[in-house]
Amino acid sequence: MAQITALLLDIEGTVCPITFVKDCLFPYFLKKLPDVLSLVEFPLESSSQDSPIVSVIEGFPPETRTTREALQDHIVQLVKNDVKEKNLKALQGLVWNEGYSSGEIKAPLYQDAIDLIQVQSRNHKVYIYSSGSVHAQKLLFGHVDINGKSTDINGYLSGYFDITTSGYKFEPQSYKNIIQNIGIPGQEVLFLSDNVKEVQAALEAGLKAHVVVRPGNSPLTQDEVEKYKAVDDFSHLQL
Ligand SMILES: [Mg+2]
Repeated sequence: MAQITALLLDIEGTVCPITFVKDCLFPYFLKKLPDVLSLVEFPLESSSQDSPIVSVIEGFPPETRTTREALQDHIVQLVKNDVKEKNLKALQGLVWNEGYSSGEIKAPLYQDAIDLIQVQSRNHKVYIYSSGSVHAQKLLFGHVDINGKSTDINGYLSGYFDITTSGYKFEPQSYKNIIQNIGIPGQEVLFLSDNVKEVQAALEAGLKAHVVVRPGNSPLTQDEVEKYKAVDDFSHLQL
């Protein structure tokens, strides 16, 4: 059997709680939104403001940014409905950047995931594949909560992939793109994810893959338990 030489890790539900984005990042953004918008003068066109926030806000449709209140309502609705909109993503990115740098946000990685990344990177390449942007991934791994201290563990990682670099996570081709990119045969790469469809796609692409079981993840069906190898603690992995 081919030896595992590389790990490919999903983020949410795998190395950190599936609720991190929904229960921490989204509420943090909504809490900060009024402050962020209070720094901007409305209407936008009447003044010559130049800031990263203004550049992003200018991307929202004109009718949604006639007043500060209208824009705030619009953005809150986008968040509530989980609309994947590029201006919203960009604005969230700016706000989370601030939160991470100030230490207000720290990524709650599972201890066994931190250990896996730190220890296995000595003799394995460790890569990340998440639908969150590569920028957001680096931010997250740059501010990991280790014993209450915001710690940068990017140095242990060999590369990052997202849907723009490699494709959607349910498609086998995306995993083929990744192994081609890293230049390691699929049978030497172990993909870990909480999502059965992602695991299935990776297996079809010729990678090894296990389903990760964490508190709050959707439970596996009996069929899935029989079909896939499940892992609930990375210290049990045979590498
Ligand atoms: Mg996941």
